[in-house]
Amino acid sequence: QIIQQLQSHGYEAYFVGGYVRDTLLNIETQDIDITTSAKVHEVMALFDKVVLTGEKYGTVTVIIDGYHFEVTTYRKDASYSDSRRPDEVNYVQSLQEDLARRDFTINQLVMDCQGNILDHFNGKADLKKQQIKTIGDPFKRFEEDALRMLRAFRFAAKLNFTIEDTTVQAIEAYKHHLKYIAIERVQDELNKLFNYPHKTNAINTMLQVGIDQALPELLGDLNSLKNITEAYQAEDAFAIFVIQNRDCINHYKFSKKQQRTYKDIYNLYLQTENHAFQPEHIFQYGLELCLKTNKIHRLLNQNDREKAIQELDQTLPIRRTCELTFKGEDIIKTLKIKNRKQIGFIIDYLLLEVLHKRLENKPEDLKKAAETYLSKHLKEF
Ligand code: ATP
Ligand code: MG
Repeated sequence: QIIQQLQSHGYEAYFVGGYVRDTLLNIETQDIDITTSAKVHEVMALFDKVVLTGEKYGTVTVIIDGYHFEVTTYRKDASYSDSRRPDEVNYVQSLQEDLARRDFTINQLVMDCQGNILDHFNGKADLKKQQIKTIGDPFKRFEEDALRMLRAFRFAAKLNFTIEDTTVQAIEAYKHHLKYIAIERVQDELNKLFNYPHKTNAINTMLQVGIDQALPELLGDLNSLKNITEAYQAEDAFAIFVIQNRDCINHYKFSKKQQRTYKDIYNLYLQTENHAFQPEHIFQYGLELCLKTNKIHRLLNQNDREKAIQELDQTLPIRRTCELTFKGEDIIKTLKIKNRKQIGFIIDYLLLEVLHKRLENKPEDLKKAAETYLSKHLKEF
């Protein structure tokens, strides 16, 4: 629909990038990119629902039936400084020029509405060889934009392809330029990479070329991931990096919620490294986080305690402090204490006793236990 609409107004337009590549490989694709000779304002004039997502880069998102399509004007990247994104982009007239600025041969294939494929840079042959190869001189292409190096690993992780030899050599030569790339862009690529099924393939090549040395603050010990056989996701990989280096929490641009999760996993991991999971862990962190932490132990070749955790959860006597049958107000009334800190100590004590089933959650039992506790610890108070 989009392509036909553009064509009927005299513009050229094709499917490009991941959608064409993935269609030829017969695999599912995440998004659809379209390349066109129409300029941004010309695209915008032709569709009802459009969002100007990257004016600087000539990109408009067209929304049809809730689906988002990235429509980008033919362009070349004008100049680069410091291996970052281009400083400015120049629109170009020909499809060929637009394709030449793209990263890999397998990402420059275009398709028209009839399903005809145009292949200007030998992409089909590389699809057959299952290899990732830059368009043109890889040394120059990575010097222009260092992020492409991580993209190479990302596609290796998605497609189970190898990275072509000269392209690997260029990554070795330019890997330190990754420090010029904004963390958000690096994180985005890593996140995709660690969610793809063939990540171990990519991780092995990353280790061979020493990508971990180029991103020391973000990638912990990548070696610890390479022998993992169980399926895991990006969240698990980032949690492992956080455990290896707690500062990772601040280096990445995590959301507040993600930060909380990684901090909790970090704390619980340390508490359970040499000790069993306790009922108070389920009480404090919840079942889901305990299972996540246990998975990290398992991925790092430590004991799997999933069964014990499930059992602790199923037999947990109470889930909230307010479920105690002898509460703060009862302590004030019966034990005649007013000091908040002291009340807190007593409640913590009762809670732990109930969670460990050393006490039944009955008012009389709790009252008696509180009195004994108080008489023992009165001096400390
Ligand atoms: P995915 O399946 O993840 O969407 P994709 O190949 O479509 O993979 P995108 O990030 O959506 O990747 O980018 C679309 C296309 O834009 C790529 O296929 C490639 O042609 C081009 N491209 C994207 N980023 C770069 C870059 N940093 N340098 C050169 N070309 C790029
Ligand atoms: Mg895409």
